[in-house]
Amino acid sequence: MSLRWDDDKLYEECGVFGIFGDPKAAEKAYWGTFSLQHRGQESAGIAVADHGQIVVDKGMGLLQDAVQMGRQTSNLGDRAIGHVRYSTSGDSIDANAQPLLMHTRFGPLALAHNGNLVNHDQLRRKLEDEGAIFQGTSDSEVLAHLLARTKKPVFLDALFDAARQLEGGFAFVLLTETGLYGLRDPHGIRPLVLGRTEEGAPVLASETCALDMIDAIFVRDVKPGEIVRIGSAGVEGVLFSGNEMPHPCAFEVVYFSRPDSQMNGESMHLKRRLLGKKLAEEAPAEADVVVGVPDSSLPAAMGYAEASHIPFDFGLVKNRYIARTFIAPQADLRSQGVRLKLSAVKEVVANRRVVLIDDSLVRGTTSRHIIRLLRRAGALKVHMRIASPPYLEPCHYGIDTSRAAELAARNLTVDELADLVGADSLAFLSPEGLTNALGPGGWCMACFGKGYPVPIFTEEEERHVQSR
Ligand code: SF4
Repeated sequence: MSLRWDDDKLYEECGVFGIFGDPKAAEKAYWGTFSLQHRGQESAGIAVADHGQIVVDKGMGLLQDAVQMGRQTSNLGDRAIGHVRYSTSGDSIDANAQPLLMHTRFGPLALAHNGNLVNHDQLRRKLEDEGAIFQGTSDSEVLAHLLARTKKPVFLDALFDAARQLEGGFAFVLLTETGLYGLRDPHGIRPLVLGRTEEGAPVLASETCALDMIDAIFVRDVKPGEIVRIGSAGVEGVLFSGNEMPHPCAFEVVYFSRPDSQMNGESMHLKRRLLGKKLAEEAPAEADVVVGVPDSSLPAAMGYAEASHIPFDFGLVKNRYIARTFIAPQADLRSQGVRLKLSAVKEVVANRRVVLIDDSLVRGTTSRHIIRLLRRAGALKVHMRIASPPYLEPCHYGIDTSRAAELAARNLTVDELADLVGADSLAFLSPEGLTNALGPGGWCMACFGKGYPVPIFTEEEERHVQSR
């Protein structure tokens, strides 16, 4: 198995985008989806509907490699969806690239999915028993097959019925001949927002940064358990589930979302600064300079500096001309990967006590290499501070988590973790500190050991399902 150079980090499964009633729908879908590529780089695609047909252009790799602007879709109709994918459920193969195109009795249907269905195995087995033939191995096709088998005469009713059978954390956008639909899981674990272009065309996207990309404005979040139908009659929302407590993913705030995105109307950049401030209050350090791991940890590092009155500086710089994925099957090559990606600035860290801020710590392998870089550059001390609580449990809602055994904080004490990464001291933000910074409302914090909002199958139950 190949490893990323920074396989300490977690990866979003996907990003989705949709637009309706815009003569430049394909072009805007391309650029909107382009801005979501931090959520997935393994495959990408665009689907455009026009005059009774849906044309899909998709492939492996980044959007600019997978989709050629002008190849098939650029001059087509006024509605489109887009998708970027990083596989967590299903293999990284062409057949799993999205949008998926299906032919149902409602006509052609394209769908794009972010998240994970925890009851995927059971639904898939039931559908296969009924004769469904799946094209790929991802869980995204399940919704399409549920729709294909419905007896409901109206598409919205069919979608309503199908949505009620799904469990997990998910956001879908679906494109039919006549409409665009958005669907968000009952707990609102995975994000989905509704926006509007300057000309008034409705837009759906995983994050608000995709709205900014096409000069669209934010209208509102799609509600947990809501289906949004967009057609020539306008935008209509209908709840398929309404009693669950919302649990948006706390890790979207900690790391996943782009810093220029907003969630619940709040800036991700400012939230991360607040996480850094809380961290400084909870875990002060005797130091001369605060350094963040670029780019995702820089806001938290700035917040830590502000609250601790220790100067912030750019002690690590990132090489922007390296491919995002670095195939490094051996540990020593992974160290080379970190050196290719990051360099320490001697003038900032030499002969100084450094507070090193990272947004999260999953396996600890990359942190060890970064601390080594800082020491080689002359740092006297390295005090590592993590702007989120220890990552203790795997995510089952669409995030690529290392297997539970590889989660360093699950098996080691904080002191043992400090030894593992080679830090002079190590501290994490507390779960209370995180909740405090996140603000009111429920949040999913299952990976921080706070319980899964949607029940998951134990390994034994999964084995039982697979052996049936
Ligand atoms: S378990 Fe963690 S990563 Fe997964 S949805 Fe919940 S907060 Fe997000």
